[in-house]
Amino acid sequence: MLRELVANNIFVFSSEYYAQVTASAVITSAGAVVFDTLPFPLESRQVAQFVEERQAVPVKYVINSHYHADHTYGTCFFPKALVVGHRLCREHLDGPGRDGLENVKRSSRELSSIDLILPDIVFDEGEISILLGGVSLRLWHTPGHSPDSIVCLVENEGILLAADTMMPVPFFADGSWQDFINSLEALRDVPIESIVQGHGEVILRGEVPVRIDNDLAYLYALREKVEALVDRNLGPESVDTIDIEDCGKSRIALNGLVQQLHRTNAEVLYWEVRREREGEPG
Ligand SMILES: [Zn+2]
Repeated sequence: MLRELVANNIFVFSSEYYAQVTASAVITSAGAVVFDTLPFPLESRQVAQFVEERQAVPVKYVINSHYHADHTYGTCFFPKALVVGHRLCREHLDGPGRDGLENVKRSSRELSSIDLILPDIVFDEGEISILLGGVSLRLWHTPGHSPDSIVCLVENEGILLAADTMMPVPFFADGSWQDFINSLEALRDVPIESIVQGHGEVILRGEVPVRIDNDLAYLYALREKVEALVDRNLGPESVDTIDIEDCGKSRIALNGLVQQLHRTNAEVLYWEVRREREGEPG
């Protein structure tokens, strides 16, 4: 696990084992808030130890940015914390999340210590704030990567803990292209100094507006290219011809994993556009 201080009271931890997943801890005089956890128990325990022993503050809240396993499997290592998430996060954890965990536990000894934990505090629309030790954290719903995705703004510092609403390539296979556009458009109006992505490097001051625009440009470029293929009556395999760099994104980020995410995006969008076209009156 790598650790980085991004403001005087905010630490970011990144997994060395899986897809550079990040978790964050906001330290206050009244306790800590942990935003997301790391995929493997060893690394989540290291986060807990660092906050509780080295920083010597109890973890009062764990926020689940969304239900995906790589972000939520460490929640159980913070047994005294209240868990906060979107209502859909609780529903998805209780359904597909529970089934997924049972499956992986059968095949991985390393993951056998994980217990499924559901959020205690949920919200639907609008926003919710956590006020702790003079620090204000604002959470709101940003569907797109998944239906239950949320982000958290540490208001005093202007640091956005974005989870997978911001990753090296926007990935919407479990969410929606249109929701992603709407969520990113809304981020443009938020005063943000830095962004902690769900996977990969922290986006620093000055790069933030450019990066939000670049993500939006990627989504629009991808749709345009997919629509062109559908309109030429080409089959789903034709999405292989859509180059990630032609959509404005690097092919090497996350050790090349982004190309796989991009390929899946293109395929999901292909079928969506086909359904739209077929639904149109001839
Ligand atoms: Zn995710």
